[in-house]
Amino acid sequence: MRTKYIIPDSVFFSNKTREALFYEINTQAFVVINKSTSALSVREFLDKLTLQNLFTIVVERGEDKDVDEIIDHLIELELLRCVPDGTRDCSIPLIPILNDDLSFESNVEKKKESVSRRCLSNYLDQVTFYIGGKGALGKTHDNIISKQISYPLFTNQTIPYSSVSAFINQCNKIGAVQCIYEIVVTDATDICLFEFSEEMRYMKDQIQFTLLSADQNVPVVKRLLALGYKVYLLLDARNDTRVMDGINANYKMVIRDFNDFDEFKRLKENGIGIQPELVYDDNLSFLSNNFFIDPSDFEQIKCGKKELFIHQKINLSFWGRLFIDSDGFVYATPMRNAILGRISDSVLSIIYKEFIENTGWRLIRDTPCCADCIYQWLCPSPTALEYLIAPNRICKKV
Ligand code: SF4
Repeated sequence: MRTKYIIPDSVFFSNKTREALFYEINTQAFVVINKSTSALSVREFLDKLTLQNLFTIVVERGEDKDVDEIIDHLIELELLRCVPDGTRDCSIPLIPILNDDLSFESNVEKKKESVSRRCLSNYLDQVTFYIGGKGALGKTHDNIISKQISYPLFTNQTIPYSSVSAFINQCNKIGAVQCIYEIVVTDATDICLFEFSEEMRYMKDQIQFTLLSADQNVPVVKRLLALGYKVYLLLDARNDTRVMDGINANYKMVIRDFNDFDEFKRLKENGIGIQPELVYDDNLSFLSNNFFIDPSDFEQIKCGKKELFIHQKINLSFWGRLFIDSDGFVYATPMRNAILGRISDSVLSIIYKEFIENTGWRLIRDTPCCADCIYQWLCPSPTALEYLIAPNRICKKV
C-alpha cells in the first residue's frame, strides 16, 4: 500500500554508513537511528529523507521490512506523521536557502563579484592585537597558548601603538562601528601604552585590555580601570600569577590540568568572578580524558536547528574576527594559519581576501574524519585547540 509520510519539523542527516541523525523539536534532542543492515533499500530510504528541502516521502509499505521498521520507529518517536497518499498536507521547508551563499559559488570571478557587492565592514566583529615584546627567551610555551586564547605573546617584535590606533581609526572610518578591539599586552611598562590609553579614551567602551595578573602590572591595570576600560587579567600557574588585592577586574584562568582546575574552583567559591580557559600545551592525556567528548554524550547535547545550520556555514569561534600578530601580519584565526595582509593594509582588502580565500571565518567540520561522522553538524565549530591536536577533532573517537 502506497503511504505518504510527512516529516513535521525535524532535521535529518545521514553519513556513508547506515546511520541517520534526527532532531526532535519537543525535546530539542537528537536521535541516531543506526541500521547496520546491508540492505541497499535502507541506504536509499535514508538518502531520500536527507535530501535538502524534502519534507514528504511516499513509500510502498510491506515491500521492505528494514525500511518499514525504521518508519515505525520514527512514527513512535513522533518524527514522522502518516497521511493518506494524495493529500496536500505538507510541512514547511527545512533547510534555509541563503542569499548569495558563497559555498555554492565555484566560479572565482562570480565569487569575487558577489563579495564586491557586499558591505564588508558590517562583517567585522572583533580585532585582537597581540602587541608582543619582552623577548622570546624561555617563554616558548606561552606562544603556544596565544594560538588558542588571548594570551601575551613573548617576542622580540612589537606592534607600535600608533599602528593600533591607525587600524582602529580606519575601521571607524569604513563604518565598522560595533567592532570590539582587544589589546593583549605583554610589556605593561611600555610608555606608549600610557599614551595610547589616553588617546583612545573616547573609544573606551569598545577597547579592552588583557594582561597577566602579575605584581608588576598593578599600576597599569589601576590606570586602565580608572580611565574606564574593561580589563581582563589572566591567571596562569606557570607564570606565577595571582589575584590582585583590591582590584575589581575580570579574571580568566588558564587550565592545563587538575591542579589548575582545583585552584579555579577554589577562587570561584571565594566569590572571584573568573572564567576558565582550557588550553592544549603538553597535557594531551588530561585533555583526552577530561575534555574530549564521549560518543555517549552526543545525544544529550541541546542544540537547536539554528545552530545546526550555522555549523554548516560558518565557524562560530572565528567568524568576523581578525588577529594581528606582533610582526604586524593579519590573520582570521588565532592559529595564524594563513596571512591575510598587514596591519597597514586597507581593512576592506583584508576582509575581502578572507571572503575569497576562506582561511578561518568559514572553517567548518569538513575534515575527512568529521565529514563521515553522523555528528558532523551537531558538534561545535572547530576550535583553535583542535587544530593544534592531531587529528583535528574533539571526540574520543566515534
Ligand atoms: S569531532 Fe568530528 S569525528 Fe568527532 S564526533 Fe565531532 S564530527 Fe564526529
